[in-house]
Amino acid sequence: MSSAPVRVRFAPSPTGPLHMGGVRTALYNYLFAKKHKGTFLIRIEDTDQTRFVPGAQQYIMDALQWCGIMPTEGPGIGGEFGPYVQSERKEMYKPFAELLINEDKAYYAFDTAKDLDRMREQAKTMGMPNWQYNSVTRNSMRNSLTLPQSEVSQLLQSGAPYVIRMKMPRNHDVRFHDIIRGWVVVNTNNLDDKVLFKSDGMPTYHLANIVDDHTMQISHVIRGEEWLPSAPLHIMLYEAFGWPCPEFAHLPLLLRPDGNGKLSKRDGDRLGFPVFPTNWTTAEGELYSGYRENGYLPGAFINMLAFLGWNPGTEQEIFSIEELVEAFSLERVSKAGAKFDPNKTKWFQQSYLRAQSNKEIANQLRQIENIALSDQELHTVCNLMKERATFAKDILVEGAYLFDRPSMYDSETILKKWKTETSSHMMEWKSVLDSLSDFSAQTIEHAFKSFLESKGLAIGAVLLPYRLVLTGVGAGPGMFDISAFLGKQEVLERIEAGLKKVEQIINEA
Ligand code: GLU
Repeated sequence: MSSAPVRVRFAPSPTGPLHMGGVRTALYNYLFAKKHKGTFLIRIEDTDQTRFVPGAQQYIMDALQWCGIMPTEGPGIGGEFGPYVQSERKEMYKPFAELLINEDKAYYAFDTAKDLDRMREQAKTMGMPNWQYNSVTRNSMRNSLTLPQSEVSQLLQSGAPYVIRMKMPRNHDVRFHDIIRGWVVVNTNNLDDKVLFKSDGMPTYHLANIVDDHTMQISHVIRGEEWLPSAPLHIMLYEAFGWPCPEFAHLPLLLRPDGNGKLSKRDGDRLGFPVFPTNWTTAEGELYSGYRENGYLPGAFINMLAFLGWNPGTEQEIFSIEELVEAFSLERVSKAGAKFDPNKTKWFQQSYLRAQSNKEIANQLRQIENIALSDQELHTVCNLMKERATFAKDILVEGAYLFDRPSMYDSETILKKWKTETSSHMMEWKSVLDSLSDFSAQTIEHAFKSFLESKGLAIGAVLLPYRLVLTGVGAGPGMFDISAFLGKQEVLERIEAGLKKVEQIINEA
């Protein structure tokens, strides 16, 4: 690696919300920058005004903030290479395009949209469906290479619409090294004369991207594989300007869970998982759901994304962001597309939830719902339930009986498990509980064991029925913990109420 300071950029176009593939690109840039004590910046590439979507830039910034991978230079953040929004740099680009014209590396083209359509049609009838404006066809088009100089000057002066195109040399091998893909060679005969500057006075993505990467002193371009076909043109532009090239790393595609094709923004809600970091509502009112609103912790989301295309080469899977910075390298990013796995994503979330303190989970719950329990009670609930939850919100559902008396009882299990003598065992167990002066989980457990022993009963004969009358359901955390949490009075009342309910269920069956 060169010794110049590492400066990398995430360069999204504000054409909509940030897809999780985009977040992964941002993440790898972030990790690479931090690892090399460099700078991670964000640049908004909004030169294509026809695809501009209001709110998208703010969405991108908010999403990165939620993920905890904020850049240190960018719009609203500042930095000495700004502005960081291309439309605000508009005036900068034209002189660069003109510089290339002066050096015969670019040219003015005056062809109208109609002219171009006609050429395409003609080529099609001659059996060439993919007509291109290139080093061969440009010789028969209306441009500053074919028109007399005087006519070109006159057209420019009269304000005739034009674009500036790259003058691709013929039969030249463009070679470049990609950190992930190795050497790439493309012959310029396969490249067209891309438009660098448009008739609306804006540069195209290609020109703006290269000018900005150069002037912002970007050392490494880390971006999605979909930009690989543009890389030879970019290399040619660096050569044309006589600028040193940054290093390139094109990240593998994110694939659908079945490996069949690229993960698209429509897949998520269709296949039952989010593809966006946070909720996004389109101008038409269509909602795309986000990881944040689905209850994911940002650390889990980021940890999962880090593994979509990269692995540390060890068994370790849970990484804090600091550990990711430490372990990350572009050399360990794979070329092959990375299959998104929604179940693994849930596994990461579950692991992150379990690692949270009761207080942290309680805070999450209080944000979701108004909870009447005291902090201490809520912490106990979190402690009891977190092993059984994937999302904090699951605790409210799965552990509903810890917040309120059960309103529903699992009649199927009751009918299956209730024996004729079960209710009288419950009544006896109730009076044992009533006699306890200390109601800690330990005391209750101790009393329970002696009770079973004195009656010669098996655990199953009493414990499951006890759970059913107390909680309404057949599974959950330890019954002695639940009992201690509810307190004696509540437990006695729930047994009473539960037994009535059981009787009713049996009678109705
Ligand atoms: N603006 C491009 C995008 O939307 C950036 C490509 C690049 O990083 O060069 O993805």
